[in-house]
Parts: sequence; C-alpha cells; structure tokens
Amino acid sequence: MGQAPRAVGSDGIFVVQRHDGSSLHYDVRLQVGDVLVSWAVPKGPSLDPRTRRLAVRTADHALDHATFEGRTGTARGGVGTVIVWDSGEFVNLTMSGGARLPASDALEAGHLKVALRGTKLAGAFALTRTAMGGDQRNWLLVKVDDQDADTEYDPASTDLRSVLSGRSNDDLAAPHGGSDD
Ligand code: MN
Repeated sequence: MGQAPRAVGSDGIFVVQRHDGSSLHYDVRLQVGDVLVSWAVPKGPSLDPRTRRLAVRTADHALDHATFEGRTGTARGGVGTVIVWDSGEFVNLTMSGGARLPASDALEAGHLKVALRGTKLAGAFALTRTAMGGDQRNWLLVKVDDQDADTEYDPASTDLRSVLSGRSNDDLAAPHGGSDD
C-alpha cells in the first residue's frame, strides 16, 4: 500500500487532558526532559490536515500530572473537571540542517514536529509558533498529511470519554461523580 514507515521508539509520553472549566479546552502536553510542556487548545486536536487549531502555550507541568483526572477550581470560584482524553508516547521528528533537532531546541526555535501514538490521536503533528497578535504564546497545531490523517473521524467532537477511566467531564461534574484528590 506504500505506507510511509512509522516512527519507532519513544522520546517521551504525551497526554491530552480535556479540561472543562471557565472555558472548555484541551491541554496538550509533551514530555520534554522532566516536565510536561503544555499548550491549551480550545477546539482540541484535529486529525484533518486542513484544520489549523490555535494552541496557546501554558505553564509546564510536572510529569505526575499526566494521569490526573478530577475536579479543579476555576478562576471564578466554580468547579472545573479534567479527564485524560488521550495519552501515549511520541517521537520527535523535528529536523534542522539534515539532523534531528532536540525537542528543547525545537521549542526554542518555535517549530516542533512529533509523531503521536495514542488511542485517539496517531501520526505526525506540527506545532508552530505564530505569535499571532504579537503574543509569543500563540502557536498552531496542525495534523501532518500522513496515513493517520483522517477527514471523517473527529474525536474532539464525538469521542469525549477518558482513555483511562471511561468517564466524561460531565460524569465528574455530577454529584458523587468525582473525587477531590
Ligand atoms: Mn487547562
């Protein structure tokens, strides 16, 4: 079928947490060194290469946050919920001058290409800093057009449950549905 070779090995874990708080977003996190480098993606990742998703760089998180699900506070004093919407491992595919560019350098340079191996997300994705509006936190997340690209399956609109627990954000928000720890 002429499929491109799949990336092998692993450069770390990735996790996408669906965070229903003051506003709904997906926290996309990649392990770089001993932290989870993070972006908030309001509309969630798309498998359609024609779709560009705003990804706002947010604070690095500790590695143990990768399995966090539960309730959180919101800036307005309300209750938010977090589920592990997808997780797995990734391979850094970023090249520069014919050589593999370490992820930390790629972040600095504002362009990172990674292959994900998750439950919902697979294949290569590009993260590119655009600094739209003059804000250095603004990046775009775009699916690379490879064998895992999919213009039909849109997990961020149809597949809303945790890959760890099967729970939805609504399950956690319901009375007795969540846990504070
Ligand atoms: Mn968040």
